[in-house]
Amino acid sequence: RAKEEGRGTWRFFEPAMNARVVARRQLEQDLRRAVTEEQFQVYYQPVVEAEGGQISGFEALVRWVHPERGMVSPAEFIPLAEELGLIRAIGGWVLRQACSAAAAWPGELKVAVNLSPVQFSGGALVAEVASALKHAGLAPHCLELEITESLLLTDDAAVLATLHELRALGVRIAMDDFGTGYSSLSYLQRFPFDKIKIDQSFVRGLGQDEHCTAIIRAVVGLGKALGMTVNAEGVETAEQLETLRAEGCGEFQGYLFSKPRPSQDVRTMLGSPEYSPASVRPGSVAA
Ligand code: C2E
Ligand code: MG
Ligand code: MG
Ligand code: MG
Repeated sequence: RAKEEGRGTWRFFEPAMNARVVARRQLEQDLRRAVTEEQFQVYYQPVVEAEGGQISGFEALVRWVHPERGMVSPAEFIPLAEELGLIRAIGGWVLRQACSAAAAWPGELKVAVNLSPVQFSGGALVAEVASALKHAGLAPHCLELEITESLLLTDDAAVLATLHELRALGVRIAMDDFGTGYSSLSYLQRFPFDKIKIDQSFVRGLGQDEHCTAIIRAVVGLGKALGMTVNAEGVETAEQLETLRAEGCGEFQGYLFSKPRPSQDVRTMLGSPEYSPASVRPGSVAA
């Protein structure tokens, strides 16, 4: 708000408000510098297949290692980066990092990269993805792009066209945080996603709110009918895993298996038997 009102208006704020504005200004400045100085890291969280318990790939999750504050959560800085027009630079960097990392992984492991709706405007996304794949030498089918329902809210023909172009490259498209937006079902009709990721809030509610089980059952049914993989995110307990398995979810992600970890830990994760659900016991996975 202060930004819109212009300089000099800060003196009308309460001291606490003033402090917030100052802190926010500082964060903006820090984030701009973070982009030029590449203060980011990509962490990777394993995606575990229900059938066989194997790791099928990893989701790339960006981290900002702030020189004074340490790790800043993407939940905090991604919205700011979107607002400041920095998300294209950050998103492009994550994409290139993730593709290069995945190209060095053994076998046909996939990497999932989150895209901000902002990256769909400006017309450069498809070329950027193609270039990242080519530069890394990664097969397109090993890259999965995660989008959220907010991208489709505008019902923009250009967005749909871009999704089709991305698909034509051979990359996979996943709908992230499914069930938290509006009129989700029509999106599934408008674009054939490869994967639906059930929002963590439904997984968290398992065992506490019977509606969560009902919603998960419905999404699994929908996914099966439409030929989409159904992923359950935020799996933290063996009880949740058991229910999700019984409901027929195709794959899982969550702290029960592993928190997101730096790139150099990927090989350890791949070699570790404790990531196999069969051997997971409550409390057996270190946070
Ligand atoms: P998301 O894409 O839905 O990612 C899942 C988030 O849940 C991650 O948080 C992950 O660390 C966390 N998570 C995974 N398993 C568990 C669990 O068992 N319990 C709990 N409580 N949390 C779990 P993270 O890494 O803090 O990222 C938050 C969000 O920030 C992401 O949600 C995504 O929307 C956004 N984000 C992260 N990296 C990027 C990026 O490179 N680009 C864009 N545009 N957004 C990103
Ligand atoms: Mg490979
Ligand atoms: Mg995601
Ligand atoms: Mg999610």
